[in-house]
Amino acid sequence: MIDSDTDQRLTVKRPTKWTVCEDILLAVVAAVQLDVEKLFMITEALWNILKEKHGYADEDLLQMVQDIDLRDGQLDGKVARQPNPPCSNCGRTLMGRHPVCLYCGAVAVRAPFDR
Ligand SMILES: [Zn+2]
Repeated sequence: MIDSDTDQRLTVKRPTKWTVCEDILLAVVAAVQLDVEKLFMITEALWNILKEKHGYADEDLLQMVQDIDLRDGQLDGKVARQPNPPCSNCGRTLMGRHPVCLYCGAVAVRAPFDR
């Protein structure tokens, strides 16, 4: 059995602060894993509805995923980040994920899948 408070390779007792950080990180990772699993189930349920009610095939989904992946010219399993869009009111660049423009206070209008 491995003592989680001891790094076996260095045989050095870890400070308690590190153990607390590890515990917090493990809890966060577990929560994210649950969220991802739930999102997989929701996605699968939605996809099954589209197949059964509207006649789409798995090939349609795979092609669309590939098309989205290739928007940045690279088939790498990732969607490239887009630059922040301009504010629809003042035209200045929206900052981060703020729900309003930091310059004029207008509600930030973003595409539903902006990252
Ligand atoms: Zn603005």
